[in-house]
Amino acid sequence: AQDPYNIFLLPVPTALTALRATSWSIALSFETFNLHPALLRAVAEAGYTVPTPIQARAIPLALAGHDLQAAAQTGTGKTAAFALPILQRLDAAVSEPRGPRAPRALVLVPTRELAAQVAESFQDLGRHLKQRGVLIFGGVGPKPQVKALAEGVDIVVATPGRLLDHLQLRLVDLSRIEILVLDEADRMLDMGFIRPIRKLIAALPKQRQNLLFSATFSNEIRELARGILRDPQSIDIAPRNAPVELIDHRVYHV
Ligand code: AMP
Repeated sequence: AQDPYNIFLLPVPTALTALRATSWSIALSFETFNLHPALLRAVAEAGYTVPTPIQARAIPLALAGHDLQAAAQTGTGKTAAFALPILQRLDAAVSEPRGPRAPRALVLVPTRELAAQVAESFQDLGRHLKQRGVLIFGGVGPKPQVKALAEGVDIVVATPGRLLDHLQLRLVDLSRIEILVLDEADRMLDMGFIRPIRKLIAALPKQRQNLLFSATFSNEIRELARGILRDPQSIDIAPRNAPVELIDHRVYHV
């Protein structure tokens, strides 16, 4: 069967420059996480040798089933920090036969570009496992997405608006989601996605793992996090609410 990810794949601008500029404070290896050999192989093939600081903190906690509230910007390796635990946990969990339209992990992201990048990470890291995923966003025809959902997928990477459309048309069943990720939560709020997000979350089972990633933690984000996360572990690898280092600020008096 054709992998639904490939249908939408966009070129991925990588944030490697920012990543290389990060100094590794915790030098350990991916082997210490007890990951599935198929995941370790994919990690090695992706060229990752040392986990980034966010990966070093988040992966063990997420594997242990904790909810997470993580302050991390793009370029820190945050995608693999949630993709690896998700792939591992879905693979390890005794899964009922995959029902059509009942995915088990949901990753919500603010933009199509980020959705494509996240999907590509899942595809790369999950290449030696059997899980399937679908990439869902607006601005393109819904047919391939609907088809993939109907055939049954494990992982949905989506922007909130289009996924809500599918939900309201009963084209996707979110009642069996085991892990929810809100990626770049601050940008999702800035873009006005709070209502679709709340509606989507209302369709999820109460019992689930929640991982929230945000570059900044405003009061609004904290309130969202309070409503969603259960007894979360906090990870803050960047100075609180610091802008990306590569951003230059200027003030012009007019
Ligand atoms: P992200 O912050 O998730 O957007 O990741 C930024 C870039 O870093 C992506 O191109 C990843 O493929 C890459 N990356 C993630 N983790 C590692 C790692 N442990 N070692 C080297 N590169 C990585």
